[in-house]
Amino acid sequence: MIEPVARKMGSSMAQNSFATHEVLNQSPPFVDVDLFALDTPLAEAVAANGGAAAAKELSEFGRHWGSAAMAERGRQANENPPKLRTFDSRGNRRDQVEFHPAYHELMAHSAHAGLHNSTWAPDGRPAGAPSEVVRAAKFYIAAGVETGHLCPITMTRASIAALALQPGLLAKVMPVIGTRSYDPTFAPWASKRGMTLGMGMTEKQGGTDVRSNMTRAERDGDAYRITGHKWFMSAPMCDAFLVLAQAEAGLTCFFMPRFRPDGSVNAIEFQRLKDKLGNRSNASSEVEFLEAYALRVGEEGKGIRTIIQMVQLTRQDCAIASTGLMRSGLAHALHHARHRSVFQKHLADQPLMRAVLADMALHVEASIALVIRLCRAFDCAAVDANEAAYMRLLTPAVKYWTCKSAPGFLYEAMECLGGNGYVEEGILARHYRESPVNAIWEGSGNVMCLDVLRALSREAEAATGILESLTKATEGLPGAERATDLIGKTFRRGDAESVARLAVETLALLAATAALNAVSPQHAELFASTRLASHHSAMYGAVELGRDDIGHLLDRALPV
Ligand SMILES: Cc1cc2nc3c(=O)[nH]c(=O)nc-3n(C[C@H](O)[C@H](O)[C@H](O)COP(=O)(O)OP(=O)(O)OC[C@H]3O[C@@H](n4cnc5c(N)ncnc54)[C@H](O)[C@@H]3O)c2cc1C
Repeated sequence: MIEPVARKMGSSMAQNSFATHEVLNQSPPFVDVDLFALDTPLAEAVAANGGAAAAKELSEFGRHWGSAAMAERGRQANENPPKLRTFDSRGNRRDQVEFHPAYHELMAHSAHAGLHNSTWAPDGRPAGAPSEVVRAAKFYIAAGVETGHLCPITMTRASIAALALQPGLLAKVMPVIGTRSYDPTFAPWASKRGMTLGMGMTEKQGGTDVRSNMTRAERDGDAYRITGHKWFMSAPMCDAFLVLAQAEAGLTCFFMPRFRPDGSVNAIEFQRLKDKLGNRSNASSEVEFLEAYALRVGEEGKGIRTIIQMVQLTRQDCAIASTGLMRSGLAHALHHARHRSVFQKHLADQPLMRAVLADMALHVEASIALVIRLCRAFDCAAVDANEAAYMRLLTPAVKYWTCKSAPGFLYEAMECLGGNGYVEEGILARHYRESPVNAIWEGSGNVMCLDVLRALSREAEAATGILESLTKATEGLPGAERATDLIGKTFRRGDAESVARLAVETLALLAATAALNAVSPQHAELFASTRLASHHSAMYGAVELGRDDIGHLLDRALPV
């Protein structure tokens, strides 16, 4: 007698009368893992940059963010994007944005871990080493799970650097920003358990060129009334925004809360939300201000100098998040390749796939070493002039290299999963759509290159010192000397701007080699020989790595 198919397949399948086949040879979900413990290059980079004592805390964070529940929150927050409620049913303005509960839960978990404030002391001064390194490790892990909600988290953290130029205001907001609570209620910030801040600079006629801002600020007693528009203003349910507007003495930075001091809703009117390629869990608005109440931050006419303090930190976070996205892509690709068999062999054992994955692993090793090294510079900048110079020169170069390499990297990671990589149920399609934004906002690619040139000309002596220290840290490594020569020569050229991308990429590669050399000299050698001594092909895996090196790289990327 033929056994019924349903009984043979087990009781769960028996319920489905349409079942036609068994599901075989698919990788299990990459969840319920410790995202810190599985990441040897991260753990080593953190330890090498002063964060060794935080290993237990980071492992707890890694387990929590590696859980199936957090992955599910990330999926739900992106499949249910925010909605703008411009009016209520009676036609009164509401100007509120509604988010899926999963988004609020992600915000609460990030706030609980201090991603929005742990690099600051309660009085708003830098918390000191190794707070930047430890927070960066967490931010990178969180970015690999859900990136959209990190937009208000990073802006909140970064705003404190600009608010420091208005100490009275900083002293008032710190007790609210300083808590680890997330409070999504639509209420005046001073009455809340926690608050978030956003940023409004970009207008229709100019994003990079903020000097072309047309928004006007009129003095009104101790405050100002702001009239104008912003073409992009993300996370519109933030409790306050740092905005740029033209005051009598020129472009000035302002703190614009959602409520006026008398408790009425401030005149911040959202026109619509952007329909974006990725970053879908996060809302980005077009907005108009109609004599909106605001307080000045920093001196009148010094708006760019004030807000750049904030932008330096959001740029740092773009680099961390892009590296976190690439790491997540690599981990999912490697995990899948270890479970998926093709032609009687696991993909992870096919020589060509191993070459691809190992080359990708090498890219991530260098990226994380560089990003964490940069965060050490942020940790030490207040007390060490060399670290401050490193931070200023390298932040735009690191943002340029990591953020611009992420989309190509994630495309390759997606392909490692074949068709499964391309569908929306998996995380890789989301990561791929998310990845270009970090290069575009907070200063696009060319702008980062121009920033490096500016740092070189304004602080020539300090920059020369940094280049010398990179040369020393990479001494004897393949191609390092040639790279140093190229950087020096290119930056000295009269037409440096037109060749700046070549020099800035080489600077980032040299700095990555130096950072990796301090963590894992064996891999620094491999990185230098494939990226400095020769030009790396546009495709991953088009390099020759030794068998043992490949095995070692893959074991470090994801222990079996
Ligand atoms: C999803 C999303 C959310 C955003 N959220 C916010 C927000 O919350 N707040 C906010 O203020 N802005 C926000 N922005 C805007 C973003 O910061 C700007 O789009 C960005 O700064 C670029 O400005 P732009 O779009 O006006 O482009 P442009 O300034 O016109 O630049 C276009 C291109 O020209 C290049 N370029 C510019 N100058 C030069 C030059 N001198 N030489 C060579 N090339 C140059 C740039 O690199 C860029 O590639 C957001 C953008 C996106 C996509």
